[in-house]
Amino acid sequence: MSVSSEKRDWPLRAPLRYVKGVGPVIAAEFAKRGIETVGDAIYFLPRRYEDRRFLKKICDLQVGSREIFLAEIVHSAEHGMGRSRRRLFEAVVSDGTGFITLRWFHYALPLFRKEFQNRRRLLVCGEVKSFGPRFEILHPEIEWIKEGEETDSLHMRRIVPIYPEVGRLSAKTVRRVLKSVVDCYGLQVPENIPHEIIAQLHLPSIPKAIAEAHFPGHSLQETEVARRRLIFEELFLFELALALRYERNRHEEGIAFSIQEDLEKRLRAMLPFRLTAGQERVLKEIQADLASVRPMHRLLQGDVGSGKTIVGFMASLSVVNCSYQVALMAPTEVLAEQHYRNLYSYAERLGFRMGLLTSEVKGKQREKLLKELGSGEIAYLIGTHAVIQEGVRFHRLGLGIIDEQHRFGVLQRTALRQKGKMPDLLVMTATPIPRSLAMTVYGDLDLSALDEMPPGRKPVQTFILTDRDWDRLLRFLKAELARGGQAYCIYPLIEESEKVDLKNATQMAIRFSQDLAPDFQVGLLHGRMTAEEKESVLIRMKNKEIHLLVSTTVVEVGIDIPNATMMIVEHAERFGLSQLHQLRGRVGRGSQKSYCFLMTHPGAALGATPTSQRLKILTQTNNGFVIAEEDLKIRGAGEFLGVRQAGLPDFRLANLFRDARLLAEARRLAFDLIRRDPNLSHSSHQSLRRAVVDSSPSPLKLLFSG
Ligand code: ADP
Ligand code: MG
Repeated sequence: MSVSSEKRDWPLRAPLRYVKGVGPVIAAEFAKRGIETVGDAIYFLPRRYEDRRFLKKICDLQVGSREIFLAEIVHSAEHGMGRSRRRLFEAVVSDGTGFITLRWFHYALPLFRKEFQNRRRLLVCGEVKSFGPRFEILHPEIEWIKEGEETDSLHMRRIVPIYPEVGRLSAKTVRRVLKSVVDCYGLQVPENIPHEIIAQLHLPSIPKAIAEAHFPGHSLQETEVARRRLIFEELFLFELALALRYERNRHEEGIAFSIQEDLEKRLRAMLPFRLTAGQERVLKEIQADLASVRPMHRLLQGDVGSGKTIVGFMASLSVVNCSYQVALMAPTEVLAEQHYRNLYSYAERLGFRMGLLTSEVKGKQREKLLKELGSGEIAYLIGTHAVIQEGVRFHRLGLGIIDEQHRFGVLQRTALRQKGKMPDLLVMTATPIPRSLAMTVYGDLDLSALDEMPPGRKPVQTFILTDRDWDRLLRFLKAELARGGQAYCIYPLIEESEKVDLKNATQMAIRFSQDLAPDFQVGLLHGRMTAEEKESVLIRMKNKEIHLLVSTTVVEVGIDIPNATMMIVEHAERFGLSQLHQLRGRVGRGSQKSYCFLMTHPGAALGATPTSQRLKILTQTNNGFVIAEEDLKIRGAGEFLGVRQAGLPDFRLANLFRDARLLAEARRLAFDLIRRDPNLSHSSHQSLRRAVVDSSPSPLKLLFSG
């Protein structure tokens, strides 16, 4: 990093404790919230604002509305209430025009005793209720007033910012620190966005936006615009990084493969089905990229079961045929092994070597594999994260394929590319991200979509059940197994309590074995098993030696057993909709009618809670895109995509769903700008260039370094 940029950014990088009025204790509390520098504090915005310009008199308070007023303590004490003698703390306050009672059921008695002194003045805020003839407020927000503070311009008689809580600091302290930060440093924040863009969008300058977003002047509308400005900046820098990357990719020189139809024809003859029109189209798109000298950066999106694997494999054949290597990376061992098992025999019959590399491959076996990979004897490597580990060297990697991209981040994508010299890259995902979002999230990739299912698929009929339905469910299960079908029963896995979940899954397997004995076999699959154990369970399932497979969510992605027709999901309410859709996608893969049972607690099943509303969507549609859209609405983009997993920056202010329109605007303007000035070399873009390339939000840097 150059000295000048360091100097220039210095104010934002200054530790918070350099700020006037911030001692080590306060700095430590902020640090716990991840706010360590002045820059962090500047982007720590109020969660809401409170209009304290017009305080009410107690006599004018209205029952049912949220009110703010000044008062003084008349009397306070702890009481026992009702027959249970539940303890509560009460304070009667007055402002000379009337009395009102404040009540707390949760409080720290010593502190309250110390603070609630008669005649002490305070600001009270909360919803007024009537309690018999009297007015009361339960758990009001209060702020103590010191002598002469009614005229204080920071906490009173203005629109006051309400910040998220910072450790044990009082609301006033937090406000004072931020005031100090904004006053001392707000003016020094560099203006990154070109003037014409600011003007075009009618946005305020950065210092003005910062001041207004923290300490509103006259109207909340202006504050809203100020916040938009800050959010826009965040999104714009992000899109600019994507645009720069996209632009750079466009000029890279990679390998131009010649597309050879011989192997492809032979593979087609081996397949038990014909590719759908959608698959053919996507194959053509990929092949066009392979044939071009520009390295491919393509995202293949297709709903669960749409048949992405075979498309990726067929496209690979041209690469193998040109004596280059292919690497296919999957997020789990189970999935990597399945791919290997499915594709191995094709590779063998087509005359090239395939290898499997997971963390389970160790010692001599691993050594041999790596040697054959380095010499080029192995043409096609399938594996997990192990593929991008340091010691793994390819002879000539020509194509990297990442399956289930949503489980990997940008870093892994980059690492895989670096295993070769400008190899082509195909990433596949079954998370049907709405197109608009995909464009922004994976904005540096070209998109292909498989929007059609292989023929003969029937929608999976879905039901919401509770434990009370157990007997019915069991009867249904027996009938389905007797007919020759197979079933899964899935347990959610919550990382912190893996042991408990495992116990649950194990117990469930035992319960099922008892209920289904002696006619049917029950298998158990979970993350703690070794690769061999998992493999053997899956093979037995595939061979129909196991009829019901009880499993933790390791089967979530990709497992393909077409004869399975029934999916039971325990504690369905703990899953996201898209994840449930993925799980459900494990059935309905063959020609038989399939069923999915979402088990939940009675409250949720009755349709009364948000959870049940959510689950109901699954009973109504099998369309992954519709489900994803709903999921996004409910959970927000971060959670939906699993921010860290998706390699997305953890936006400080923006919410990809709420700010979708602003995001689209940011994208358009950013790509526009890069088209005009591909390297940001124009003198008026220097500040912008620095902001993108070496500014503090590290996710941008990460994105840029690929
Ligand atoms: P996903 O897109 O979820 O990764 P897969 O690639 O696992 O889906 O394919 C799901 C199943 O559909 C596999 O059993 C595969 O063999 C089968 N399949 C793929 N393409 C077709 C097709 N055109 N016709 C029939 N079955 C197909
Ligand atoms: Mg797949």
